[in-house]
Amino acid sequence: MQKRKRCLNKDCGELFTPCPQVPNQEYCSKKECRRARKREWNRKKLASDEDYRDARRDAQKNWREKNPDYCKQYRARQKDYVQKNRQQQRTRNRKRQQVDLGNRIAKTDESPVKNTVLTGRYRLIPVRGDMIAKTDESIVEIIAISGG
Ligand SMILES: [Zn+2]
Repeated sequence: MQKRKRCLNKDCGELFTPCPQVPNQEYCSKKECRRARKREWNRKKLASDEDYRDARRDAQKNWREKNPDYCKQYRARQKDYVQKNRQQQRTRNRKRQQVDLGNRIAKTDESPVKNTVLTGRYRLIPVRGDMIAKTDESIVEIIAISGG
């Protein structure tokens, strides 16, 4: 019976039973843990093995030389993407401005003044020339008859 081990993948950390065929198995057999093991192996290898580092750099360089358009196409795609994003943002901004404008118009339009303030009793004082004729004042009552 194999002793159970804790998976070294920090995102996993589960107990697993190592395969007898795999000596010193430190990661469980889940896909992401196998991948983590590979990454870790790669990291250590790159840190410790100059030849490996050189070989990898050469391989990457070769790949770029064999695919000279990739970077160009990537940048072109990025440019399209950036432009599209910018356009969409502009559209969103415009829409927001229209909503703001609509709100402002709605606010001045729905004057609550009509119903609340105007209804009630007022002193009506006639103005003759520039003179206010207080003696002719009368009390009037104003009632809103429609709901605005
Ligand atoms: Zn695991």
